Amino acid sequence: MRRLCSKSNIYQYTYLLIYVQTMEVDHIHAENQGKIQQQSMEVDQTENQGTNQQQPLENWTDIQAELANISKDRQEIEKEAILHVKGSNYKNFRETHNRSYKYCEICSEAETRERNYMKPVYHKHGSSKTYMINAPLDKKGQYFCYTCKDSPHRIHPRQRSPLLISSSTLHDWQGMRSYTGYTGDALHMDFITIPGGTIKVLKHALLAEYGAGNRALDVCCVFGLNDLLRNRKVADIVADMKDFQNTVHRIAPPGKSNSVAIATIIIPPKLAEIEDDFEGNRFSDIVELNHQIKTLNQDQPQENFPVRYAPQFHTWGLASRKRKPKFPRNLLEGLPRHRVGQWREENMEDMLHLNDKTRLRMGKAVIAYFLALYSITETVAASKPLAIAMERKSKRAKVKKPKSMKAAKPETKFKFMSEEERAKKKLLCAQMIQFLKAHSQNQPSQAAPSQVQQ
Ligand SMILES: [Zn+2]
Ligand SMILES: [Zn+2]
Repeated sequence: MRRLCSKSNIYQYTYLLIYVQTMEVDHIHAENQGKIQQQSMEVDQTENQGTNQQQPLENWTDIQAELANISKDRQEIEKEAILHVKGSNYKNFRETHNRSYKYCEICSEAETRERNYMKPVYHKHGSSKTYMINAPLDKKGQYFCYTCKDSPHRIHPRQRSPLLISSSTLHDWQGMRSYTGYTGDALHMDFITIPGGTIKVLKHALLAEYGAGNRALDVCCVFGLNDLLRNRKVADIVADMKDFQNTVHRIAPPGKSNSVAIATIIIPPKLAEIEDDFEGNRFSDIVELNHQIKTLNQDQPQENFPVRYAPQFHTWGLASRKRKPKFPRNLLEGLPRHRVGQWREENMEDMLHLNDKTRLRMGKAVIAYFLALYSITETVAASKPLAIAMERKSKRAKVKKPKSMKAAKPETKFKFMSEEERAKKKLLCAQMIQFLKAHSQNQPSQAAPSQVQQ
């Protein structure tokens, strides 16, 4: 809520009003659980059928109306899915415990496998879903999405939902875009961010928001620091991470599969000193934990969604310097000191968060991970040094060669196309012309469906 109030955008004030109103939506009972998935599937089937339905849509206006309906249905289903996880008397519970602006309706009122009873929880909770289910939709079924570059857009613009789960490390990572100049995410990414959240707290939040959904999820986790702060052993933290991975797979809807990646952990001065030792120094623990995280990722299924390319943040906030290997199993040889200017807090003993500029880059790295996961961009490198090396190589390749060294310009743009590619292109052109001809009398200026369907 703090995040929403901090933005001076009229859409978000509208959201607050709608938010209050929709809290009155009736609670659905346990017997309706099956209904949610049934309804969701029907909506998905309708969309998948598209223009190939038995009764084809007549014109582009009908198609737009159908897409708007699908979007509205999806929003309703998401509302019901969240209500479904709440305790049966959650309204009374809220009335009793909602004494502070920090009261979290999602975590307090949900009954999940992690905690199967209601319990008042007071914390900040960034939730894209809470915003989305309460956002007003326009005639096209679109809502103003304040994190995306292309906004407004419909509910669930992609077949699968990328989801960032984070503690404070990436809470509100975009900051004020008018100040940072960031233009927004290139693809829609859901998020759950809870400052101070341990892995178990984030798991409860995941189940509260997505436990009864029917969307396939691709989860990227940036967590673990708060468990280290609570002096938990590495083995226990790894066990929680494994449990989290299993939970993500377990909530996959029938016939679909989820993926889960865990980012390696940053090494904050508050918890770990690299060269000098102090009581409670958890440097070697974090190094070990990061190795275990890499193994956890590699042990996941990789065929369709290579989660081994999860973001690696263990070098962020550190400065590079050549040195002899000191730690036999660490990932940090050559990175022996903290880059003090990249941390938010002033004193070394307090430094736990990277500064906003660095966090923005981290958030972009998560977006880059999802873009690569969906093959929208090339596969990302397995590590930051490798990524830097690839980038340098790419830049060198782009350096202009002298005219004499340039290859002769191809005569036509089809010269390097294979027969298969050419056939595909011809077919696409033919289909487009056919579509435009068919609709030219009714809607001469409308675009082809493939250009706008999401
Ligand atoms: Zn919460
Ligand atoms: Zn969006």
